[in-house]
Amino acid sequence: MRLILLGPPGAGKGTQAQRIVEKYGIPQLSTGDMLRAAVAAQTEIGKQAKALMDAGKLVSDDVVIGIVSERIDADDCAKGFILDGFPRTLAQADATEAMLARKGVSLDKVIEIRVEDEVLAQRIAGRYTCANCGTGYHDTNLKPKVEGVCDKCGSTEFKRRPDDNAETVMTRLQAYYKETSPLIGYYYAKGKLVSIDGMAAIEDVTAEIDKILSSL
Ligand code: ADP
Ligand code: ADP
Ligand code: ZN
Repeated sequence: MRLILLGPPGAGKGTQAQRIVEKYGIPQLSTGDMLRAAVAAQTEIGKQAKALMDAGKLVSDDVVIGIVSERIDADDCAKGFILDGFPRTLAQADATEAMLARKGVSLDKVIEIRVEDEVLAQRIAGRYTCANCGTGYHDTNLKPKVEGVCDKCGSTEFKRRPDDNAETVMTRLQAYYKETSPLIGYYYAKGKLVSIDGMAAIEDVTAEIDKILSSL
């Protein structure tokens, strides 16, 4: 199963991807996570990406296409994967088509998660993750069962992203509408697009996605 989760920052792509991983056993390929790992490891790519990410601007197509292309060739992607936050430009979408064609496979579905801008700001402001296992939480929308303890791994360390602040959110939304939203038409024209209501509760969005995936 080869999927793309498409949607603005804070739409719930990462949250839903974690659930698809658990249920279907295919890896989540998040370019945001990969870039943050590169920044933390202070690699050449990380050094280039950091300032752009902090400002909420997109990293260059060449860089992200390079890291996804390498990741997709790993064995655990043979049965499928979920692309979360990639592709984000038409150039990245074309590169994805070429990459998959080279491997003799193709995308099954592109799931667009729709959420209104006002709600996105609230979701991003309250977002945090487990520092140990990466499970996502929210200050009010999705708290751990026991306060301060990760449901998944029991860790008591959590972290917030430096770019999850009010000023950067505006830039990221603009980048989404300008660079990424044209992909909606791109995949619609290919007959691959399904759009779902991301304003619904997390469990309801998961159920919608399950319906789509079980029909593949
Ligand atoms: P994205 O990966 O699209 O940027 P996330 O999955 O990180 O978005 O979600 C952003 C924040 O909103 C997280 O804190 C998450 O817990 C919360 N969230 C995700 N989906 C929903 C939803 N359907 N309703 C309420 N809050 C949600
Ligand atoms: P969100 O979860 O809010 O949608 P991500 O974690 O996907 O955000 O991305 C964080 C930042 O990483 C982006 O603002 C951008 O700077 C960079 N980034 C991630 N994926 C891409 C991509 N496919 N192309 C260009 N830049 C990217
Ligand atoms: Zn954890």
